[in-house]
Amino acid sequence: FFGPVQLEDHEESEAEEAAAAAALLANRTAGIVDGIEGCIGNTPLVQIRSLSEATGRIILAKAEFLNGAGGSPKDRVALNMIQVAETEGLLAPNQGDTIYEGTVGSTGISIAALARARGYRAHICMPDDQSAEKSDLLHHLGATVERVPVAPITSPNHFVNLARTRAREHTASTDTASRGFFADQFESPANFQAHVATTGPEIFRQTDGKIDAFVAGAGTGGTIAGVAKYLKEDQKLTKMRVVLADPQGSGLYNKVRHGVMYASTEREGTRRRTQVDTIVEGIGINRITENFEAGRALVDDAVRVTDEQACRMARWLVEHDGIFVGSSSSVNCVAAVVTALSLPPGSRVVTVLCDSGTRHLSKFWKQVGAMGLEENGNDTAQDQSGEED
Ligand code: PMP
Repeated sequence: FFGPVQLEDHEESEAEEAAAAAALLANRTAGIVDGIEGCIGNTPLVQIRSLSEATGRIILAKAEFLNGAGGSPKDRVALNMIQVAETEGLLAPNQGDTIYEGTVGSTGISIAALARARGYRAHICMPDDQSAEKSDLLHHLGATVERVPVAPITSPNHFVNLARTRAREHTASTDTASRGFFADQFESPANFQAHVATTGPEIFRQTDGKIDAFVAGAGTGGTIAGVAKYLKEDQKLTKMRVVLADPQGSGLYNKVRHGVMYASTEREGTRRRTQVDTIVEGIGINRITENFEAGRALVDDAVRVTDEQACRMARWLVEHDGIFVGSSSSVNCVAAVVTALSLPPGSRVVTVLCDSGTRHLSKFWKQVGAMGLEENGNDTAQDQSGEED
């Protein structure tokens, strides 16, 4: 009963065009949006009550997990990268063109959903240490997924380098007239520009420009650079502090604080679990990307957050606020609290809730459980009664 329906193109008359424009306007007024792209952006800015009460400062978080295509700020970035490529003639729909990307997951998920909506295929290269939820989701969205062993950025098998190579191979292939397009979120200016154009202005409108600090982690650096550029440069909020929230094991913290790039770990002397030695996914990196560089001069300070602090914050947010988020959001909230406490009472600190905890059940939230933080705020790890249910 969902048999194929044949739709034919036809030239629109002026009357039809006018009717379509009127319908679009009526839709907008009624809150009807045009396709999945219409579910991206305009996310709420949530006042986190418990953290605001606990600190005596106002902690506001941009609820980016509510972006409706891929459930993260990467929806904004993926849409902009695709639109720029379309404008530049690098992608055209329904011809077998394929978008290639190296991603720890979020950007891939956004690209995979938008690729479906706009007539492209998606091929995603991601490291094999990321949560299974993300690769499962990519499969269900119909993307081709290559999970690759963790490798240094200098290796051709690093997930970003592999995606670039795959795009080149596609375009060079003589079997097909279709093209491979490497989205390149780490280096492409279309990434931070999406935040200059949308996230920054939304935050400015939502706060009336009254912001004392903006706190965010960096994966590509697009969010922190784009929002900082808009607020500090375009809107001239020169007194606003921009603070990097950096997970343990990431080198950016040292770069911001000491001008030297070296990875730091809470577990010196032990073998690294991953390239960036943290359970946190999506933020923390040991190189300066073009996107981070775009905003680097605007970053005033950095806060390093341990895995344990991130796990405790994740649990706290559920306990007190019913907010269920992933690891990078938790790191952001820890750093937002640290930043808030360094400012006078009543100050307003804005941060980002990047994605939902449902994407991190098998790894991060399992760790939260293993720490004994799972039951109604009771630290069950301390409970040595040995009783069985
Ligand atoms: N949180 C999550 C879950 C992410 O996947 C990412 C991007 N990798 C970020 C935060 C960081 O965003 P950005 O790339 O803009 O620095």
